[in-house]
Amino acid sequence: MESRIFKNEDILSPEYLPEILPHREQQVKQLANNLEPAAKGRNPQNTFLFGSPGIGKTASTKFIFRQFEEEYPNVKTIYINCWDYKTTNSVLGKIAEELKSFVSRRGVGKDEILEKIVESCKKMKKGLVVCLDEVDQLIFNDQEVLYDLLRINQYIENPVGLVFISNNPHVFANVEPRIKSSLNIEEIEFKAYSIEEMKDILQERAKIAFVSFEPAVVLLSANHAVMNDGDVRVGLECLMKAGRIAEQEGNKVKVEHVKKILSGVKPVKPEILKEKISEDERIILEVIDEYRTLNSGELYELYSKKVEVPVSDRRFRDFVNHLANIGLVKIRERKRGILGKTRVISKIV
Ligand code: ADP
Ligand code: MG
Repeated sequence: MESRIFKNEDILSPEYLPEILPHREQQVKQLANNLEPAAKGRNPQNTFLFGSPGIGKTASTKFIFRQFEEEYPNVKTIYINCWDYKTTNSVLGKIAEELKSFVSRRGVGKDEILEKIVESCKKMKKGLVVCLDEVDQLIFNDQEVLYDLLRINQYIENPVGLVFISNNPHVFANVEPRIKSSLNIEEIEFKAYSIEEMKDILQERAKIAFVSFEPAVVLLSANHAVMNDGDVRVGLECLMKAGRIAEQEGNKVKVEHVKKILSGVKPVKPEILKEKISEDERIILEVIDEYRTLNSGELYELYSKKVEVPVSDRRFRDFVNHLANIGLVKIRERKRGILGKTRVISKIV
């Protein structure tokens, strides 16, 4: 049955890639300029995009990749989300697969995959651009792949262009200095949207998603999004849910519909993220959930009791930092006597 409310409901899904990205023109242009040399047989500029979640980093990159694929027959773009590919072999395997290199399934070594990638690059005679989204997952887990990606460049004519994305601006502080300097990264910061910008963005989506709506529907949703960490996905969810209520009641999305769903639309992240952390991190999180606030030593002790083989101190610290980076726990440093500082870890409520 045709909807009286939605022209196209999919447009409100966070996966939908719009035809325009209001208020990201400058970032899109800068990234495009950095990658364009790949289409001209010259060296692309590796780029790192950072900024808080839900403000268009992934969308801007996919936007450019789509455009490049359409406009430049001599560029191949590959998008990889490191939540799904967090080891050197899986990332290289994915690249090989996208290049349609034949790599036999079982027991292939890294060098063989690298060889195949180089072979495919030479054969296809295209500039290659690879995006590693949520790159913190990779750097945290297995950063060797960065070195391997650089190594490919020794064997092919034009270097691979790399785009890195993370919510954490400091993620490259954890990368070996030698690799970091070889990557020669330019940074592009994504700043949070103002309420006016958020309104424009949601307005564009609402215009093509709904048959008709009251103007304040967008205003209210934009306001809710800005209040909830500035994540555009929150605003999109408001529009979607209001639309669904409206469908039961009439032929126009109204302010009253938004008001009904507003309290039920919360920042999306933590619950989703919880499913994607490692087993040890999950156990650490359980302890924190139970005790709410404790210092690092206590936490390590309680965690150690819950597992058969506890990870090293160093690795444990990495895990806790990771949980803090993705916003699941908070770390404060507290002075302790003249001896120094102790880290206090607490639950985010
Ligand atoms: P992140 O910065 O976390 O990568 P995304 O790029 O995934 O955020 O954006 C989250 C959602 O918000 C996506 O659905 C995206 O289409 C939308 N979005 C973000 N910025 C814009 C914009 N300037 N114009 C249109 N949609 C946007
Ligand atoms: Mg993203």
